[in-house]
Amino acid sequence: MKFDTIIIGGGLAGLVCGIRLQEGGHKCAMVSTGQSALHFSSGSFDLLATLPDGTPVEHPLEAMSRLESPHPYARIGADNIARYDREFPEMMKRAGIGLTGSATRNHYHFTPMGTMKKTWLTLDEFVTFDEPSRLPWHRVVLVNFPGFLDFYTKFIADEFEKAGVSCTPVQVTLPFIEKLRSNPTEMRSANIARTFDSTGHIDELLRELKPHCGEADAVVMPAVFGLSSPAPLEYLKEQLGKPLCPLATMPPSVPGIRMQQQLTKHFVHLGGTFMLGDTVDRADIENNEVKAVYTTNHADIRLTADHYILATGSFFSRGIIARPDSVYEPIFDLDVFYDTDRSKWYDADVFAPQRYMTFGVMTTDSFRALRKGVELTNLHAVGSVLSGHNALHEGCGGGVSIMSALHVADSLLNDK
Ligand SMILES: Cc1cc2nc3c(=O)[nH]c(=O)nc-3n(C[C@H](O)[C@H](O)[C@H](O)COP(=O)(O)OP(=O)(O)OC[C@H]3O[C@@H](n4cnc5c(N)ncnc54)[C@H](O)[C@@H]3O)c2cc1C
Repeated sequence: MKFDTIIIGGGLAGLVCGIRLQEGGHKCAMVSTGQSALHFSSGSFDLLATLPDGTPVEHPLEAMSRLESPHPYARIGADNIARYDREFPEMMKRAGIGLTGSATRNHYHFTPMGTMKKTWLTLDEFVTFDEPSRLPWHRVVLVNFPGFLDFYTKFIADEFEKAGVSCTPVQVTLPFIEKLRSNPTEMRSANIARTFDSTGHIDELLRELKPHCGEADAVVMPAVFGLSSPAPLEYLKEQLGKPLCPLATMPPSVPGIRMQQQLTKHFVHLGGTFMLGDTVDRADIENNEVKAVYTTNHADIRLTADHYILATGSFFSRGIIARPDSVYEPIFDLDVFYDTDRSKWYDADVFAPQRYMTFGVMTTDSFRALRKGVELTNLHAVGSVLSGHNALHEGCGGGVSIMSALHVADSLLNDK
């Protein structure tokens, strides 16, 4: 099977790269083992919340000039990042995903614990704020379902009270959700969302909920609406008669799963070939060029392309793997940045920046992968598999995935 580009990994980075390439006329195949970090997404993409030295960032674009290579943003360049900041939300709109925000200035978005985090782009269905301390409400109703433990109402209520908002907790009991409680493992956000795919069930929810909403300025609820389309959430918003503030739950993330499905569908709609549930195991490399890759399901069948993109994620998705004394990249045996002294991988203070988060594959400034110090001419790496950044400490995970994916896709399209 021969393609222009084969993308390994169908998370945020792989999908964004694949969509950009398909839109530009490349014929792509994407091979993806399974779930990605999108299934755990808070519903927003972070660009840059803190510099590596700990300085807080309010204006990401301005702060880019203070980053140095090998940070992926330094390699991409602030001008390109400014352009992608304009183009990416448009691309997402074409996939049916609406986003709010700008790289000029971070905004604030609720975390599942009810605290605020700085971020770049947030799904339109969530409420965003310019200032964390100024909420536009005096009274809110905080809704949950009995037995749903992935939404911590106590913590959330405390955070609202701290911000001067009076918060009335309400438990809504509905027979179709009670059914899920018979097995504790079933009482998860994705299963609740499936029950609300029926408009009739949303009507039942509204009947139970509305009598509690009288004085409230807004209704705060777990984001458990619309697993495969935003329609159930839109219907609830229309019918509620009060502003709705959905809050991301603990994983799995319903908006994240929906986003993954919408992006995948869009990629396929554009003509891309998506091989879900397959894993790239090995590759043929000759003269520093990838000649073919092999997958678990296709056994000895060679998948070949002019270009290959590695978008297999970090430790979480096994894009890189830690042994007791080393870290390796399992498909191509690429050069990986890590510290040979394992005691330096982590800090005992769990809130301190963790060094292992900066480990990842090493590339040239144009994101060509390195193997034994030599660049592979037709293999680029994008997303969280890259070294040179700390997604958690710097608040830059989504941004690095999106920016590197767009940048590499554009460089391949320009070459063409
Ligand atoms: C739990 C979690 C939550 C996060 N939440 C946020 C957030 O809310 N906002 C934010 O900005 N950032 C967040 N991040 C940071 C996150 O890393 C990025 O936002 C981004 O989603 C990473 O995308 P990726 O495509 O690089 O990797 P991943 O999402 O990890 O995707 C990699 C994909 O590659 C596949 N794969 C791996 N190996 C192979 C193989 N050999 N063959 C085929 N397929 C393979 C995996 O199955 C997976 O689907 C989060 C990270 C984690 C770990």
